[in-house]
Amino acid sequence: MYDLIIIGAGPAGVSAAIYASRAHIDTLWIDDRFVPGGQISDSGLVDNYPGIPSVSGAELGDRFAAHAEKLGMVPVREKVRSIEKTVPEGEEKGFFVVRTKKNTYEARAVILSSGASHRHLGIPGEEELSGMGVSYCATCDGAFFRDRTAAVVGGGNTACEDALFLSRICKKVYLIHRRDALRADALLQDLVHSDPNIQIIWNCVPEKIEGDSQVSGVVLKNRVSQEESILVTEGVFIAVGMVPNTELVKELVEMDEAGYICAGEDCRTSLPGLFAAGDIRTKSLRQVVTAVADGAQAVHSVQKYLA
Ligand code: NAP
Repeated sequence: MYDLIIIGAGPAGVSAAIYASRAHIDTLWIDDRFVPGGQISDSGLVDNYPGIPSVSGAELGDRFAAHAEKLGMVPVREKVRSIEKTVPEGEEKGFFVVRTKKNTYEARAVILSSGASHRHLGIPGEEELSGMGVSYCATCDGAFFRDRTAAVVGGGNTACEDALFLSRICKKVYLIHRRDALRADALLQDLVHSDPNIQIIWNCVPEKIEGDSQVSGVVLKNRVSQEESILVTEGVFIAVGMVPNTELVKELVEMDEAGYICAGEDCRTSLPGLFAAGDIRTKSLRQVVTAVADGAQAVHSVQKYLA
C-alpha cells in the first residue's frame, strides 16, 4: 500500500513527484509515455518558463525528468486501465486500487495529472490520412513539408504558433479559421498578420480531407456564404484545442460540461483522496507554469489529507 500514486509525467506530474519526494511521501509514479514532459515534448519553443528562456519543449521535458530522477523519482512505464476507490466497513477514508495491464497497485491517495490530448475534427479523411499529411503537431512533422504547401486549422495560440513555425519551412501556409477573428494572443496575431507567407482563410471549416495515400486537399465550407471550395494542400495541421484525458475517472468525480475535472487551486476533487493537477482540471489558464504549480499544490493537499 503506497501513500500516493501519481499518474502522468507532464509538468504537473513531474512537479508532484519532486514535491512528494522532498516530503518523504511513499509514492508510486506511473506514466505510459517514454518521452518526458507530456504535451510540452511536442512544443518547438517554450519561451515563457521563468529562468529557462528559449528552450525547446523536448529539452525542458528532459530537464524536468532529470530533476525528478535526481530526487529518486522515475515513473514506471505502464498504462493505467482503471482507478477504483474502496472504503472498507468501519474505515473513514479507504484506499484506491489502480490497475495497469501488468499490475494492481494500492494507495491512500491519487494525484491524476494525465493532461489533455489533441481534439480531432471528426471529418472524413482525417483518421484515414493521419500520418499521411494529417498531423496534430507542427513541430514534430513540419520538416516533412519543406518547400511544400500546408494548411493549419484553428485560430488559437497553437494554430498561430504552428502557422508561424511552418511558414519558415513551407512554400505557402494557409490558416483556416471558422470565424472572422483569431483567438490567439495579440502578439501572435500580429506576427501572423505580418507574415507574407501566411494566408488566413476566414469563416471556413474543413468538411473533408482528400487524398489517396497522401493528402491532396481540403474541402472547405464558408460558414457565411455556405459556399464549398477545395484548397489544394499537401499537409493539414489540426490545432483546434485539447480534450482532457479524464476517461479513467468519468464515473468517479464531478466534471464540467467540457469534461474537465472540477477542482480548485487546492486540486481537491469531489472524491476525497483523488486530486487533479494540471490541464485536466477546471482552470482559466493552462500553461507549463500553472501545471507545475498544481503539482506542488496537489502534494500539499495530499499531505493534509493523509494527516
Ligand atoms: P484553443 O485556445 O482552445 O483554440 C482552439 C481554436 O480552434 C479556436 O480558435 C477554435 O475556434 C478552433 N476550433 C475549435 N474547435 C473547432 C472545430 N471543430 N473546427 C474548427 N475550429 C475549431 O486551443 P489551443 O490553441 O490549443 O490552446 C490551448 C491552451 O494552451 C490555451 O489556453 C492557450 O492559450 C494555451 N497555449 C499557450 C501557448 C503560449 O502561450 N505560447 C501556446 C499554445 C497554447 P474559436 O476561436 O471559434 O473558438
